[in-house]
Amino acid sequence: MTNRTTSRVLAAATAVLALGAGAGCSTGGAAGADPQRVDVVAAFYPLEFLAERIGGDAVRVTNLAKPGAEPHDLELSPKQVGQVSEAELIVYLKGFQPAVDDAVAQNGGDRTFDVTTVQPLLDATAAGHDHEGAGEHAEEEDTGGKDPHVWLDPTRLATIGDQLAQRLGKADPDHAGDYTARASALRADLTALDGDFTTGLATCQRREIVTSHTAFGYLADRYRLDQVGITGLSPDVEPSPRRLAQVIEEAREHRTTTIFFETLVSPKVAETIAGQVGAKTAVLDPIEGLAAGDGADYLSVMRTNLQALRTALSCS
Ligand SMILES: [Zn+2]
Ligand SMILES: [Zn+2]
Repeated sequence: MTNRTTSRVLAAATAVLALGAGAGCSTGGAAGADPQRVDVVAAFYPLEFLAERIGGDAVRVTNLAKPGAEPHDLELSPKQVGQVSEAELIVYLKGFQPAVDDAVAQNGGDRTFDVTTVQPLLDATAAGHDHEGAGEHAEEEDTGGKDPHVWLDPTRLATIGDQLAQRLGKADPDHAGDYTARASALRADLTALDGDFTTGLATCQRREIVTSHTAFGYLADRYRLDQVGITGLSPDVEPSPRRLAQVIEEAREHRTTTIFFETLVSPKVAETIAGQVGAKTAVLDPIEGLAAGDGADYLSVMRTNLQALRTALSCS
Protein backbone atom coordinates (compact mmCIF):
# COMPACT_ATOMS: atom_id res chain seq x y z
CA MET A 1 0.00 0.00 0.00
CA THR A 2 2.45 2.69 1.14
CA ASN A 3 6.23 2.60 1.02
CA ARG A 4 6.27 2.56 4.77
CA THR A 5 4.05 -0.51 4.96
CA THR A 6 5.99 -2.26 2.24
CA SER A 7 9.33 -1.69 3.89
CA ARG A 8 7.95 -2.84 7.21
CA VAL A 9 6.63 -6.04 5.65
CA LEU A 10 10.00 -6.63 4.01
CA ALA A 11 11.80 -5.99 7.28
CA ALA A 12 9.54 -8.47 9.06
CA ALA A 13 10.01 -11.06 6.33
CA THR A 14 13.78 -10.65 6.51
CA ALA A 15 13.70 -10.99 10.28
CA VAL A 16 11.68 -14.21 10.02
CA LEU A 17 14.12 -15.61 7.45
CA ALA A 18 17.14 -14.71 9.57
CA LEU A 19 15.54 -16.23 12.64
CA GLY A 20 14.57 -19.40 10.76
CA ALA A 21 18.15 -19.85 9.52
CA GLY A 22 19.66 -19.19 12.97
CA ALA A 23 17.31 -21.51 14.83
CA GLY A 24 17.69 -24.40 12.41
CA CYS A 25 14.36 -23.72 10.69
CA SER A 26 11.88 -24.90 13.30
CA THR A 27 8.83 -23.22 11.81
CA GLY A 28 6.63 -26.28 11.25
CA GLY A 29 6.31 -27.02 14.95
CA ALA A 30 3.56 -24.91 16.50
CA ALA A 31 0.35 -26.58 15.27
CA GLY A 32 0.02 -24.25 12.30
CA ALA A 33 0.21 -21.14 14.45
CA ASP A 34 2.64 -18.41 13.51
CA PRO A 35 4.82 -17.70 16.54
CA GLN A 36 5.89 -14.36 15.08
CA ARG A 37 2.39 -12.97 14.88
CA VAL A 38 -0.75 -12.73 17.01
CA ASP A 39 -3.34 -15.22 15.78
CA VAL A 40 -6.61 -13.31 15.44
CA VAL A 41 -9.96 -14.82 14.43
CA ALA A 42 -12.49 -12.30 13.07
CA ALA A 43 -16.15 -13.30 12.90
CA PHE A 44 -16.99 -11.48 9.63
CA TYR A 45 -15.59 -9.01 7.15
CA PRO A 46 -15.76 -5.55 8.82
CA LEU A 47 -14.05 -7.03 11.88
CA GLU A 48 -11.42 -8.66 9.65
CA PHE A 49 -10.88 -5.24 8.06
CA LEU A 50 -10.39 -3.65 11.49
CA ALA A 51 -8.04 -6.38 12.72
CA GLU A 52 -5.90 -6.23 9.57
CA ARG A 53 -5.69 -2.45 9.47
CA ILE A 54 -4.83 -2.17 13.17
CA GLY A 55 -2.82 -5.35 13.53
CA GLY A 56 -0.76 -4.86 10.37
CA ASP A 57 2.08 -7.32 10.01
CA ALA A 58 2.02 -8.14 13.73
CA VAL A 59 -1.14 -10.24 13.37
CA ARG A 60 -2.45 -13.07 11.27
CA VAL A 61 -6.20 -12.70 10.74
CA THR A 62 -8.59 -15.54 9.90
CA ASN A 63 -12.13 -14.58 8.83
CA LEU A 64 -14.75 -17.16 9.87
CA ALA A 65 -17.17 -16.03 7.14
CA LYS A 66 -16.34 -17.14 3.61
CA PRO A 67 -15.99 -14.46 0.90
CA GLY A 68 -19.28 -14.00 -0.91
CA ALA A 69 -21.32 -15.68 1.84
CA GLU A 70 -23.90 -13.95 3.98
CA PRO A 71 -22.60 -14.07 7.59
CA HIS A 72 -25.81 -13.76 9.71
CA ASP A 73 -26.52 -17.49 9.61
CA LEU A 74 -22.90 -18.62 9.53
CA GLU A 75 -22.28 -22.20 10.57
CA LEU A 76 -18.86 -23.23 11.85
CA SER A 77 -17.01 -26.31 10.64
CA PRO A 78 -15.17 -28.39 13.24
CA LYS A 79 -11.94 -26.87 11.87
CA GLN A 80 -13.26 -23.36 12.51
CA VAL A 81 -14.36 -24.27 16.03
CA GLY A 82 -10.74 -25.39 16.49
CA GLN A 83 -9.51 -22.05 15.17
CA VAL A 84 -11.69 -20.25 17.71
CA SER A 85 -10.33 -22.32 20.57
CA GLU A 86 -6.70 -21.83 19.47
CA ALA A 87 -6.84 -18.14 18.54
CA GLU A 88 -4.98 -15.63 20.67
CA LEU A 89 -7.79 -13.12 20.13
CA ILE A 90 -11.36 -13.61 18.87
CA VAL A 91 -12.98 -10.46 17.47
CA TYR A 92 -16.77 -10.85 17.26
CA LEU A 93 -20.10 -9.12 17.77
CA LYS A 94 -22.25 -10.84 20.36
CA GLY A 95 -25.81 -11.40 19.16
CA PHE A 96 -25.02 -11.30 15.43
CA GLN A 97 -23.94 -14.87 14.69
CA PRO A 98 -25.31 -17.50 17.10
CA ALA A 99 -22.78 -20.15 16.00
CA VAL A 100 -19.89 -17.82 16.85
CA ASP A 101 -21.48 -16.87 20.17
CA ASP A 102 -21.73 -20.58 21.05
CA ALA A 103 -18.12 -21.32 20.10
CA VAL A 104 -16.91 -18.33 22.10
CA ALA A 105 -19.02 -19.31 25.12
CA GLN A 106 -17.52 -22.79 25.06
CA ASN A 107 -13.90 -22.08 24.14
CA GLY A 108 -13.30 -18.33 24.10
CA GLY A 109 -12.08 -17.91 27.66
CA ASP A 110 -10.72 -14.40 28.14
CA ARG A 111 -9.29 -14.26 24.61
CA THR A 112 -12.22 -12.27 23.26
CA PHE A 113 -12.99 -8.81 21.98
CA ASP A 114 -16.77 -8.33 21.83
CA VAL A 115 -17.66 -5.23 19.81
CA THR A 116 -20.85 -4.72 21.82
CA THR A 117 -18.90 -4.20 25.03
CA VAL A 118 -17.14 -1.13 23.61
CA GLN A 119 -19.88 0.29 21.37
CA PRO A 120 -23.44 0.10 22.74
CA LEU A 121 -25.97 -1.07 20.14
CA LEU A 122 -29.14 0.77 19.19
CA ASP A 123 -32.50 -0.86 19.83
CA ALA A 124 -33.77 -2.57 16.71
CA THR A 125 -37.02 -0.63 16.83
CA ALA A 126 -35.23 2.72 17.10
CA ALA A 127 -33.99 2.22 13.54
CA GLY A 128 -37.50 1.75 12.10
CA HIS A 129 -39.27 4.18 9.80
CA ASP A 130 -41.89 6.43 11.34
CA HIS A 131 -43.97 9.37 10.20
CA GLU A 132 -44.40 12.41 12.40
CA GLY A 133 -47.92 12.27 13.75
CA ALA A 134 -48.70 9.08 11.86
CA GLY A 135 -48.62 6.85 14.91
CA GLU A 136 -48.40 3.20 14.00
CA HIS A 137 -47.57 3.78 10.36
CA ALA A 138 -44.24 2.04 10.66
CA GLU A 139 -44.88 -1.68 10.87
CA GLU A 140 -41.44 -3.06 11.57
CA GLU A 141 -41.54 -6.57 12.85
CA ASP A 142 -40.69 -6.31 16.49
CA THR A 143 -37.51 -8.27 17.04
CA GLY A 144 -37.26 -7.03 20.59
CA GLY A 145 -33.49 -7.04 20.20
CA LYS A 146 -30.58 -4.84 19.31
CA ASP A 147 -29.49 -3.79 15.85
CA PRO A 148 -26.04 -5.35 15.20
CA HIS A 149 -25.11 -3.40 12.02
CA VAL A 150 -22.95 -0.91 13.91
CA TRP A 151 -20.07 -0.94 11.39
CA LEU A 152 -22.11 1.09 8.89
CA ASP A 153 -21.46 4.25 10.93
CA PRO A 154 -17.78 5.11 10.26
CA THR A 155 -17.48 7.11 13.48
CA ARG A 156 -18.66 4.20 15.58
CA LEU A 157 -16.29 1.89 13.68
CA ALA A 158 -13.38 4.22 14.51
CA THR A 159 -14.22 4.00 18.21
CA ILE A 160 -14.30 0.21 17.99
CA GLY A 161 -10.90 0.38 16.24
CA ASP A 162 -9.35 2.42 19.05
CA GLN A 163 -10.55 -0.11 21.61
CA LEU A 164 -9.35 -3.04 19.51
CA ALA A 165 -5.88 -1.43 19.44
CA GLN A 166 -5.91 -1.32 23.26
CA ARG A 167 -6.95 -4.98 23.41
CA LEU A 168 -4.25 -6.06 20.94
CA GLY A 169 -1.73 -4.08 22.97
CA LYS A 170 -2.69 -6.10 26.04
CA ALA A 171 -2.25 -9.38 24.12
CA ASP A 172 1.03 -8.23 22.57
CA PRO A 173 2.61 -5.44 24.65
CA ASP A 174 5.75 -5.26 22.47
CA HIS A 175 3.70 -3.80 19.61
CA ALA A 176 1.21 -1.75 21.64
CA GLY A 177 2.48 1.53 20.20
CA ASP A 178 2.15 0.25 16.64
CA TYR A 179 -1.45 -0.81 17.22
CA THR A 180 -2.36 2.59 18.62
CA ALA A 181 -0.65 4.37 15.72
CA ARG A 182 -2.42 2.25 13.12
CA ALA A 183 -5.77 2.78 14.84
CA SER A 184 -5.15 6.54 14.60
CA ALA A 185 -4.39 6.23 10.88
CA LEU A 186 -7.59 4.24 10.41
CA ARG A 187 -9.52 6.83 12.40
CA ALA A 188 -8.23 9.50 10.01
CA ASP A 189 -9.51 7.50 7.01
CA LEU A 190 -12.89 6.92 8.67
CA THR A 191 -13.19 10.59 9.64
CA ALA A 192 -12.56 11.58 6.02
CA LEU A 193 -15.21 9.08 4.92
CA ASP A 194 -17.65 10.46 7.48
CA GLY A 195 -17.00 13.95 6.16
CA ASP A 196 -17.73 12.82 2.61
CA PHE A 197 -21.04 11.28 3.69
CA THR A 198 -22.05 14.35 5.69
CA THR A 199 -21.28 16.68 2.78
CA GLY A 200 -22.60 14.35 0.08
CA LEU A 201 -25.94 13.78 1.80
CA ALA A 202 -26.45 17.32 3.13
CA THR A 203 -28.88 18.50 0.46
CA CYS A 204 -31.11 15.87 -1.13
CA GLN A 205 -34.63 15.85 -2.56
CA ARG A 206 -35.57 12.77 -0.54
CA ARG A 207 -34.24 11.12 2.63
CA GLU A 208 -36.14 7.78 2.59
CA ILE A 209 -34.20 4.68 1.56
CA VAL A 210 -35.98 1.42 0.75
CA THR A 211 -33.48 -1.31 1.59
CA SER A 212 -33.44 -5.08 1.26
CA HIS A 213 -32.94 -5.97 4.92
CA THR A 214 -32.99 -3.48 7.77
CA ALA A 215 -29.21 -3.15 7.94
CA PHE A 216 -28.81 0.62 7.62
CA GLY A 217 -30.10 1.90 10.96
CA TYR A 218 -26.73 3.30 12.05
CA LEU A 219 -26.07 4.87 8.65
CA ALA A 220 -29.54 6.44 8.73
CA ASP A 221 -28.99 7.58 12.31
CA ARG A 222 -25.70 9.25 11.47
CA TYR A 223 -26.72 10.95 8.21
CA ARG A 224 -30.40 11.75 8.90
CA LEU A 225 -31.81 9.22 6.46
CA ASP A 226 -35.06 7.35 6.92
CA GLN A 227 -34.87 3.60 6.39
CA VAL A 228 -37.72 1.43 5.09
CA GLY A 229 -36.47 -2.16 5.31
CA ILE A 230 -38.24 -4.75 3.16
CA THR A 231 -37.28 -7.54 5.55
CA GLY A 232 -36.24 -7.26 9.17
CA LEU A 233 -32.81 -7.31 10.76
CA SER A 234 -31.97 -10.67 9.21
CA PRO A 235 -31.74 -10.96 5.40
CA ASP A 236 -32.96 -14.53 4.95
CA VAL A 237 -36.53 -14.05 6.17
CA GLU A 238 -39.11 -13.79 3.34
CA PRO A 239 -41.26 -10.67 3.71
CA SER A 240 -44.97 -11.34 4.23
CA PRO A 241 -47.45 -10.21 1.54
CA ARG A 242 -48.65 -7.62 4.05
CA ARG A 243 -45.13 -6.25 4.51
CA LEU A 244 -44.63 -6.13 0.72
CA ALA A 245 -47.84 -4.13 0.35
CA GLN A 246 -46.69 -1.70 3.06
CA VAL A 247 -43.31 -1.18 1.41
CA ILE A 248 -44.95 -0.56 -1.96
CA GLU A 249 -47.23 2.01 -0.35
CA GLU A 250 -44.23 3.67 1.34
CA ALA A 251 -42.26 3.75 -1.89
CA ARG A 252 -45.17 5.39 -3.73
CA GLU A 253 -45.82 7.88 -0.96
CA HIS A 254 -42.19 9.04 -0.88
CA ARG A 255 -41.78 8.99 -4.68
CA THR A 256 -38.91 6.55 -4.27
CA THR A 257 -36.81 6.25 -7.44
CA THR A 258 -34.64 3.35 -6.31
CA ILE A 259 -35.24 0.09 -4.46
CA PHE A 260 -31.96 -1.09 -2.99
CA PHE A 261 -30.78 -4.68 -2.95
CA GLU A 262 -27.59 -6.32 -1.64
CA THR A 263 -24.63 -8.08 -3.17
CA LEU A 264 -24.96 -11.25 -1.07
CA VAL A 265 -28.74 -11.69 -1.20
CA SER A 266 -31.11 -12.39 -4.13
CA PRO A 267 -32.51 -9.18 -5.73
CA LYS A 268 -35.87 -10.82 -6.57
CA VAL A 269 -38.02 -9.08 -3.96
CA ALA A 270 -36.45 -5.69 -4.64
CA GLU A 271 -37.12 -6.20 -8.36
CA THR A 272 -40.75 -7.08 -7.70
CA ILE A 273 -41.30 -3.91 -5.66
CA ALA A 274 -39.43 -1.76 -8.17
CA GLY A 275 -41.63 -3.13 -10.94
CA GLN A 276 -44.77 -2.29 -8.97
CA VAL A 277 -43.81 1.32 -8.29
CA GLY A 278 -41.87 2.10 -11.47
CA ALA A 279 -38.53 2.48 -9.69
CA LYS A 280 -35.06 1.23 -10.54
CA THR A 281 -33.00 -1.17 -8.45
CA ALA A 282 -29.43 -0.51 -7.29
CA VAL A 283 -26.96 -2.02 -4.85
CA LEU A 284 -26.61 -0.61 -1.36
CA ASP A 285 -24.07 -2.86 0.31
CA PRO A 286 -24.37 -3.56 4.05
CA ILE A 287 -20.74 -4.80 3.94
CA GLU A 288 -21.48 -7.95 5.88
CA GLY A 289 -19.03 -9.67 3.56
CA LEU A 290 -17.19 -8.76 0.39
CA ALA A 291 -18.03 -10.25 -2.97
CA ALA A 292 -15.19 -12.68 -3.65
CA GLY A 293 -12.04 -11.34 -5.23
CA ASP A 294 -12.95 -7.85 -6.46
CA GLY A 295 -10.21 -6.02 -4.54
CA ALA A 296 -12.63 -3.75 -2.68
CA ASP A 297 -12.45 -2.90 1.00
CA TYR A 298 -14.70 -1.27 3.60
CA LEU A 299 -13.68 2.25 2.58
CA SER A 300 -14.15 1.74 -1.16
CA VAL A 301 -17.52 -0.03 -0.77
CA MET A 302 -18.74 2.76 1.52
CA ARG A 303 -17.78 5.34 -1.12
CA THR A 304 -19.68 3.32 -3.75
CA ASN A 305 -22.65 3.28 -1.35
CA LEU A 306 -22.44 7.06 -1.03
CA GLN A 307 -22.64 7.49 -4.80
CA ALA A 308 -25.63 5.12 -4.97
CA LEU A 309 -27.39 7.10 -2.23
CA ARG A 310 -26.66 10.47 -3.86
CA THR A 311 -28.13 9.23 -7.15
CA ALA A 312 -31.20 7.63 -5.54
CA LEU A 313 -31.99 10.64 -3.34
CA SER A 314 -31.14 13.32 -5.94
CA CYS A 315 -28.56 15.04 -3.77
CA SER A 316 -26.89 18.19 -5.06
ZN1 LIG B 1 -27.58 -7.78 8.42
ZN1 LIG C 1 -43.01 6.61 5.08
